[in-house]
Amino acid sequence: MLIEASITAGIRPTSMILHTQPRKRWDEFDFLCIEAHQIVLSERCAQCGYPRWLCHNEEENAGWKAVQDVCFATREVENKNADKVDGLPEKQKRGMKLRVEPFRYDGKDADPDMRANYYKTEYEKANPES
Ligand SMILES: [Zn+2]
Repeated sequence: MLIEASITAGIRPTSMILHTQPRKRWDEFDFLCIEAHQIVLSERCAQCGYPRWLCHNEEENAGWKAVQDVCFATREVENKNADKVDGLPEKQKRGMKLRVEPFRYDGKDADPDMRANYYKTEYEKANPES
């Protein structure tokens, strides 16, 4: 988020993160921040927003659970629209959508090698002779 803010403001990312004046020349950390930000964006799944290496991962311990998420601001807008349009029933369900959260079946913390293993597996699928 701070990196996006720095891009929007046209200033060095480390200046935004560390709250320093932005007039210094960009250093290695500024470029690394932009590079990391670009990698995160390029790996984002168009369907769920999680990194593809996480939500497309076939690792046996990787799981997902759907949880009810409610946005009361959206509910209020939908309630007002329904009142005006057709008086839809079940007002309490408005503003609710399912979202997903990752978890591991083995209960352990996230595997730090999960991303690298995913890309290795994808590479091997695409290049079976290598
Ligand atoms: Zn996804």
